[in-house]
Parts: sequence; C-alpha cells; structure tokens
Amino acid sequence: MSNRKKLQDQIAIVTGASSGIGAGIAKALSEAGATVVVNYSSSADKAEAVLGEIKQRGGQGIIWKADVSKEAEVQDMFRKTIEQFGTVDILINNAGLQKDAKFHEITLEQWEKVIGINLTGQFLCAREAVKEFLKRGVVPSRSKSAGKIICISSVHEVIPWAGHANYAASKGGVMMLMKSIAQEYASMKIRVNSIGPGAIRTPINHAAWQTPEAYQNLLKLIPSKRIGEAEDIGNAAVWLASDDSEYVNGITLFVDGGMLLYPGFEDNG
Ligand code: NAD
Repeated sequence: MSNRKKLQDQIAIVTGASSGIGAGIAKALSEAGATVVVNYSSSADKAEAVLGEIKQRGGQGIIWKADVSKEAEVQDMFRKTIEQFGTVDILINNAGLQKDAKFHEITLEQWEKVIGINLTGQFLCAREAVKEFLKRGVVPSRSKSAGKIICISSVHEVIPWAGHANYAASKGGVMMLMKSIAQEYASMKIRVNSIGPGAIRTPINHAAWQTPEAYQNLLKLIPSKRIGEAEDIGNAAVWLASDDSEYVNGITLFVDGGMLLYPGFEDNG
C-alpha cells in the first residue's frame, strides 16, 4: 500500500469556504492532500482563519476574494489559480445563501440574488472548470479523471420548501445543471456530482438549532436524531473527489441523517 494521500498534488477551488460547509470541505480536502483555494466574498479574516488551520496541519493554499455571481471575478479566480498552481483538478461549488419570504412577498431582488449566487454562480464556476479540464485532460499520476466538480445542493432539490421557493428552485436547478454537465462530459473523463446536505450546523440555519426547543423540533425531521456537522459533508466530498468514486457520475449523494425517508411515517403513518 502506498502512503500517497487520496488527493495528493491536486488543486481544489472551494467557493464560499470562509464559513460552514465550505470551510469543512476545504479542511477535509487539504487533509487528503489537496492544495486549496479558499474562496470568499466578504470576510477575508474568516478565510484567513480557515487557511491558517489548514497550514497549521501542514496543508497549503491561498485565499481568494470573488463573488461567484460575477463572471469576470470567477474568470479571474480561475486564471490566477492556474497561473499560481498550474491547473485546477477539483471544483467545489458550495457558495450559497437564502433570502426567505412567503412566496407572494418574494421581491424580484430576493429572487435574483438567490438564483444569481446559488445557480448562476455554480454555472459560471463549472464552466471555467470544464474549460481547464478539457484543455489539460487526464494526468494519470494525479487522478483517473480529467477533473471533478462537486455541486453543493440540498435535500431541497427534491423536498418542496414553503417560504423558501427561491432557494428550492435554485437547488432544483443545480440538480439538472449537474446532471446535464455530467452527461455532456462523461466520455471526456470529467465527473460531476452533487452532495445534498440535510440540516448541517452552520450559520445559514442557526435559527433551527440555536435553542433546545428549536433543536428538538428539528430532530423530528431527522431519523438519525442528530444535526449534521460540516465534517460529515467534508468526508463525502473527499470520497466524491477521489478515485475511490471513479465510476460515480451524475448523482446526488444525500448526506442528511435520513431526512429523505419521510420521517412523518416512522410511527406507522
Ligand atoms: P454559510 O452561510 O455558513 O456559508 C455560505 C458561504 O457562501 C459563506 O462563506 C458565504 O460568504 C458564501 N457566499 C455567499 N455568497 C457568495 C458569493 N456571492 N460569492 C462567494 N461566496 C459567497 O452556510 P452553509 O450552510 O455552509 O452553506 C453552504 C452551502 O451548503 C450552500 O450552498 C447551502 O445552500 C448548502 N446547504 C446547507 C445546508 C445546511 O443545513 N447548512 C443544507 C443544505 C444545503
């Protein structure tokens, strides 16, 4: 058995990596040997802190400011990454947000913000990644694939979500974006998959786990009876990015403690 780490010598861009799931994935990829570009949109100090932890554990990377909904900023991030590290092997399309409102009160601005970051942002980053993967092709010493894209979706790519129609629509869109790219480039050894988190303890959903009452209420939706942690998603991302999942393409891997098992029926319906 070689001591080679699973993602050794590979370059990963993780969007929205200054917080929550993105930070967890960035650290997990680094532990697996990848050099990580910690993308952030506003808080450089938080991105520095994530990179600091990575470096403390012997990993390497840089922080990079870019708003994923802005074409020029995304293109610049890929250009600079390729200039500095030679290529990009892994894209984690993670950046996302919610702008919640009752459907009849959603403003066009709230709609466009969520679609712009959660869906258009994933399109812009994936397009740049695919261009680079096609240009470079497979480098067998690093990976059996020319490149891997992992889209962070949600259980709400399939579970409708009242009060969050813009968010659910963005994640449903991510599902078909992911599958269509996977189909288009599978023969060129590019793999595209999603992770569909359930409820993960991050700032995006702090209202759902902040108080004991809210937490107990949340557990009614989770057969495994615990909230998920960013590491749960990080572990799944390492697997999907590595050759261990080389024959896996175009799927959503739900990491949700069984949230999709219709827990309302667990007591005989
Ligand atoms: P979070 O708020 O901690 O992280 C979101 C990150 O995205 C932040 O770092 C934020 O700065 C960044 N971001 C926002 N807009 C950006 C932009 N325009 N450009 C670049 N970065 C931007 O929340 P999280 O829970 O870690 O969310 C990460 C992803 O996981 C999101 O796509 C979210 O929809 C998804 N998700 C989260 C949960 C959960 O329970 N936490 C469940 C399902 C899916």
